[in-house]
Amino acid sequence: MTLIVGVRYLFVSGAFALATERRHPGLYRGLSPQMRREIGWSLASAAIYGVPAGVLAWGWAHRGWTRVYTDIHAYPLWWWPVSALLCLFAHDTWFYWTHRWMHRPMPFRIAHAVHHASRPPTAWAAMSFHPWEALTGAVVIPALVLIVPLHWTALACVLTIMTVMGVTNHMGWEMFPRGMVEGRAGNWLITASHHQRHHQQYRCNYGLYFRVWDRLCGTDSGLGRFDRQETRSP
Ligand SMILES: [Zn+2]
Ligand SMILES: [Zn+2]
Repeated sequence: MTLIVGVRYLFVSGAFALATERRHPGLYRGLSPQMRREIGWSLASAAIYGVPAGVLAWGWAHRGWTRVYTDIHAYPLWWWPVSALLCLFAHDTWFYWTHRWMHRPMPFRIAHAVHHASRPPTAWAAMSFHPWEALTGAVVIPALVLIVPLHWTALACVLTIMTVMGVTNHMGWEMFPRGMVEGRAGNWLITASHHQRHHQQYRCNYGLYFRVWDRLCGTDSGLGRFDRQETRSP
């Protein structure tokens, strides 16, 4: 499972790094040493993510542990989107509060500083976490599949959103149309522009998929810009 997580990371981050080179040639110029560090931390995180995921996958296949189901009619069809949204919201909630906590001085110094050493982050920074932080992220999906009944395709959808948004939120440019990002959907959904500001200002925009907690808790500071000068200063 560690191998799957590692290869998935290399494949998706690599694809978006290539897309970045085509769309914004030279955006990552001079960042090679940083990108090497991002890949190193990310592969270490993949190893950590793989352990609970592997145990759960084994338990699902041999012991019937999780609540993942394969018969689409085992639950009403409306449950499919609701269960996927529920998982995304639960993941977002866990991420917001643990992330906000990790910006306190001690956990920041011990763990979260690794993620913020990417200045500016690149497509390779998606899983660039200290092992302690990787541990807090590794338990979320395994815990959710034990609690929430999820069709396997809904789980695949959640994992795809998690992987793609993790990469694209760090890649240094916005891939979604401006009308969406600055429109009504962007008021509630997090894309690269929102997370960019977190990497620029540190003490705001802690969310993962939704701006709900940031807005409720007064930590939403709006959208960032992708000006290289701005992104380079902490
Ligand atoms: Zn980040
Ligand atoms: Zn942070």
